Amino acid sequence: MPLPNVPTDFSGLDASALALAYQGIAGRMSRGLKGVLDANTAAPDHARVLGRWTNARDTWSGLPAHLDLKAREPFSLAVTKLNAVEAEVMKVFLAGAAPSPDGAAPPETPLGIEGMAALRVALDDVRSVARKVAGDDGNLKIMGLFGQANLAAVKERFARIPPALDRLFDQTTAKSAGGVRGFQPGHDIPATIGALAHGSGPDAFIKVSLAALRGPRPKLAATLVHEGSHILDRTPTVDFAYRDQNALYLLSPTLALDNAPHYEQLALNLSSPENLGPMPTGDLPAFSLAVLRSKTTRAWVRAYAAKTNPQRRGEIAELIGARADKIGEVLAGMLFNELFASLDHLMKTVLGNAVLEVGGAAELVFTGPPADRCVIRVPASCTTPAAVSGFAAELLTTQLWQSGGASTESPLLTTLITDIQKYDDGPLQDRLARFYQGVGLNKPISNASGRSPEQA
Ligand SMILES: [Zn+2]
Repeated sequence: MPLPNVPTDFSGLDASALALAYQGIAGRMSRGLKGVLDANTAAPDHARVLGRWTNARDTWSGLPAHLDLKAREPFSLAVTKLNAVEAEVMKVFLAGAAPSPDGAAPPETPLGIEGMAALRVALDDVRSVARKVAGDDGNLKIMGLFGQANLAAVKERFARIPPALDRLFDQTTAKSAGGVRGFQPGHDIPATIGALAHGSGPDAFIKVSLAALRGPRPKLAATLVHEGSHILDRTPTVDFAYRDQNALYLLSPTLALDNAPHYEQLALNLSSPENLGPMPTGDLPAFSLAVLRSKTTRAWVRAYAAKTNPQRRGEIAELIGARADKIGEVLAGMLFNELFASLDHLMKTVLGNAVLEVGGAAELVFTGPPADRCVIRVPASCTTPAAVSGFAAELLTTQLWQSGGASTESPLLTTLITDIQKYDDGPLQDRLARFYQGVGLNKPISNASGRSPEQA
């Protein structure tokens, strides 16, 4: 996506914040373009395009620190040059195929008859799991996951999940696509998650990915239980730690009760008990990876909310220099789009096949495309999950910044992730802080089985 033109009227804006925002996005574009050029040194047009890139880069580094009336001309020229180089790199080296970090979402196709049928079957499964939760046969499994004291509270909350989902289904038709009611096809949600709930109570809606709708039945039902627990009008859940982050034993019973993945796991345990394995145990790398995953996920959730709803930008806008009253709505929107794209990228790495090792020289090794496998090695001087995960976040954001994947400077991106509890919604700040302090201190509630082999 090209850099927006310098606005004709920026009299009410902040001249230095405006210059910084332009430099941030231009820097990300420039580093990304250089990466493409470096990967294509043998191409016939390489020397010529590299010359134009160098010229554009020099123009940007010669710009003043304030974008005021006097600087409008040189900034406009720099914008034109960089956009021209980007267009040329796309044409010459990428044949126009490369997606921009904030590229438009693919077009929505409706849920269709097939999607409606999958939802109907999954909702039957959800009701059947809810009957098991309401009865007494599942009590041991509930207490094994949530702790003895939570038995009644889990039953009460679970019973409200099927009606909440049914209400959404009543608002859904085969033609549903791109709306904000009922179930919607989730073409724009990240590939790493099957569904995404927006809001809670009467205004809530749920996006479901096509892959999830076509996936295994027990998994789809468990995913809907997870999302259904988010949309309850009273005591909606949040995500502290996901199932594959050993959430079951990382959370204290108080936090477990509010953790959506616990309800998802309960649904799986009750619908396919034959798949259960023993509860895992953890060490410093395992605890640290869990913290890194939780913080990255929370930052991703917050960045998504901030990107889609300007009312929810607040402190993050201050942190990344994206206040609309200082730099205008267009640039602010672009910086939030890019922030979300950065976190989306980091989340795919961190929640994908990531391995965290403690000891030896710090390094980051990707094998295959970034999302395939990533080894993050952190020096032994880091001795707590907070320190290890913080160091790991710094390695990841630095790599992302250098490769042209982020316009937010890596120290700021690291701060957003490592201190995410401070940037989260008010009521959550405390509970998140307690979770991060307690990781590694909670012992499994029981050593009963509670884990399916797919999580191994
Ligand atoms: Zn969730």
